[in-house]
Amino acid sequence: MHRVWNVEINEYNSTQNRKYETIFTLANGYRGLRGAIEFSKIGERGNFIAGVFDKNTAQVTEIVNCQDPLIFNIYVDGEIIDIDSTNLLDFNRSLDMKNGILYSNYKVELKSGRILEIKTERFVSRNNVHRWAAKYIIKPVNFKAKMFIENIIDGTVVNSTLDPANLTKHFEVLDAEDFKPGIALKTRTFDNKIEIVEATAVLSEDENGNIFKSRKYTKLGEKVRELYEFFVEEGKEYTVFKYGITYTSRDTKKELFEVAQRELRDFINIGYEAEKEAHSNVWQRLWDGMDVKIKGDDTAQVGIRFNLFQLASSAYSDDPRVSIAAKALHGEGYKGHVFWDTEIFMLPFFVYTNPEVAKSLLMYRYNTLDGARRNAQLNGFKGAQFPWESADDGTEVTPKWGVDYDGNPVRIWTGDEEYHINSDIAFGIWEYFRATKDEEFLINYGTEILLDTAKFWNSRLEYNKAQDRYEINRVIGPDEFHEHVNNNVYTNYLAKWNMKKALEVKEWLKEKDRIKYETLCNQLGISDLDFKEWEEKLNKIYIPMAKDGKLIEQFEGYFDLADIEITEHDENGMPVWPDLKGHKLHDTQLIKQPDVVMLMLVLGEEFDLESKKINYEYYEKRTMHKSSLSPSMYSIMGLTVGDTQNSYKYFLKTILTDLEDNQGNAGHGLHAASTGGSWQSAVFGFGGFSVDENEVPNFNPWIPEVWDEFTYTINWRGSKVEVTVDRKNVSIYSQKDIDVKVYGKDYSIAANEKLVVAR
Ligand code: BGC
Ligand code: BGC
Repeated sequence: MHRVWNVEINEYNSTQNRKYETIFTLANGYRGLRGAIEFSKIGERGNFIAGVFDKNTAQVTEIVNCQDPLIFNIYVDGEIIDIDSTNLLDFNRSLDMKNGILYSNYKVELKSGRILEIKTERFVSRNNVHRWAAKYIIKPVNFKAKMFIENIIDGTVVNSTLDPANLTKHFEVLDAEDFKPGIALKTRTFDNKIEIVEATAVLSEDENGNIFKSRKYTKLGEKVRELYEFFVEEGKEYTVFKYGITYTSRDTKKELFEVAQRELRDFINIGYEAEKEAHSNVWQRLWDGMDVKIKGDDTAQVGIRFNLFQLASSAYSDDPRVSIAAKALHGEGYKGHVFWDTEIFMLPFFVYTNPEVAKSLLMYRYNTLDGARRNAQLNGFKGAQFPWESADDGTEVTPKWGVDYDGNPVRIWTGDEEYHINSDIAFGIWEYFRATKDEEFLINYGTEILLDTAKFWNSRLEYNKAQDRYEINRVIGPDEFHEHVNNNVYTNYLAKWNMKKALEVKEWLKEKDRIKYETLCNQLGISDLDFKEWEEKLNKIYIPMAKDGKLIEQFEGYFDLADIEITEHDENGMPVWPDLKGHKLHDTQLIKQPDVVMLMLVLGEEFDLESKKINYEYYEKRTMHKSSLSPSMYSIMGLTVGDTQNSYKYFLKTILTDLEDNQGNAGHGLHAASTGGSWQSAVFGFGGFSVDENEVPNFNPWIPEVWDEFTYTINWRGSKVEVTVDRKNVSIYSQKDIDVKVYGKDYSIAANEKLVVAR
């Protein structure tokens, strides 16, 4: 039980601190607190609040690393406990994913020979997103002494501490206050003047109640602290609780110190254990709707749960002004920006397990439409052009400059050319609606996005007179190794799909709600004339194909590039760079991640099995998987076309992206797209779940030899559906009446009944 629900480490190596700060991050959609060790200074701490962005002197707007409320120092006499400079006798950390609690245990020997045990717990509440707490059990093993506990809120935090060239301060400290109980520090961001209050309080307990003998409150420049003195006996345990409250001016118009003080008192009154229980209960409910169970393969079981845990931790349904960043709330990587990762990789998980959250994520795009319109305008186009990288307002925030592996400056073109994000968002809207039939959403928000993105594409298309066709030139497709390419199939195909879907949905809206339809046309400045134009143009959008019509050319001229195939794989089964034979990477057919294959996954029902197989086989040999978004997709397509062996390998790669750190940068934050890819690989891949053109759920599962039993749960139009696959049967339970297809055959399942089909 314990084994398959916990991520555990038993060895301490400070060079791994950054990575484990990411892995042990606790988040609740509102905020993320990196899994830093209180008793080590090594690493890159992080306290991120969704939606709190600032630019100040940085190159582009970025997520703010806010003041740090986690600091908790223990002193024995005058000596501070620091596991990097004391003798660490015992060490263990364990993330209990079932309940959302992080446990850490330390046993240290001080220079004086004194041995101290510290056992800690920490959680970031899902019951009340403004609350977090920790518990410390302190035991002097072989001594009695005077000790201090120092509780600090640190306002000296900056972004990019480990990257001197980009170091930026994003807030100023406004004030500190003694809450008695507790301390608080108020800060304000530079650009948008967002105020942030962190408040914490420390309380102690033994059989006689309070153990503290004195308390001292001090303001220390940009820090505030309280210091407690107490006396300990040998062999006795002392328990200390730390309560934390976070509020920003995005949450309330009221005076933040007042709110935080009241909330902190309420929290203390309720108590640590009661909040912890309420928090765990929320996790039980979440797991109930999303768990994936794999019997017979513990690595896969813990791996998939880690991905589900962190993905579910990264969003909640109460703030439609925020979405999930590429590194979620787990690190400063990619500056807290939101990419296509959300709609194409993560959204399906929420659509099919927690549709309220899916809706909120899409509402973020709706709420940033004005920024997207500004992007289009700035670039000379019409409608809405969603940014390749998005922060708080939908304007483009992709940095223009970065550095290559040798530290040389390189121009980044994604923000100028990676247009496919627009149809990825349109697709996300459709996927959500198809699964939920949330008409209210489509009427009031979704259609507007579909129409305005279609309007963008219409203005972006370039007419090629000689060929009488429409083209989209100078773009970057999902494979970012090739820049400035013409007619990338993924981009063109989905642009066409976007325009077609917009026309289809506006007809639907006209029927459903004539007034809304007219208002929308007015507001967007579009009429039947435009619709006619879209119709004509979309049918002439150029899609490069190979001569035999099955193998698709990723972009115009791709097949003319040097054809270098991957021939070798490392011990993890990942491709080794082949000899480029003097060519530049972009002059070869090697690709970073799926592009044509990606299209065939997104619009699966538009391609037959033979095409999928031909394209999978061709492109798989040329894909370097240099993005964590890649293996999961090949895993799913591999299963579709019968390459089961590679599928399992790619599945493991995906679920272990952060746990094994196989991209080498887990320290920067969670690979959030890969967590979504993990779920897709499990449910769409092994679980064989898809929705056909008649909107009937299909199940074509296949499981690897090593799995004894595999179970997943989805939400299909408000009904919980649980699918179990073992060596003999596929069993499907549904809460409501439902029609399904299993291995291509039709079945009806009555509410609360279970269908069993032999495999
Ligand atoms: C990514 C791009 C991104 C750029 C700047 C690159 O590593 O591949 O998608 O836009 O960084 O953030
Ligand atoms: C990938 C993109 C992705 C970005 C953020 C890049 O390395 O190529 O597809 O959107 O990372 O995760």
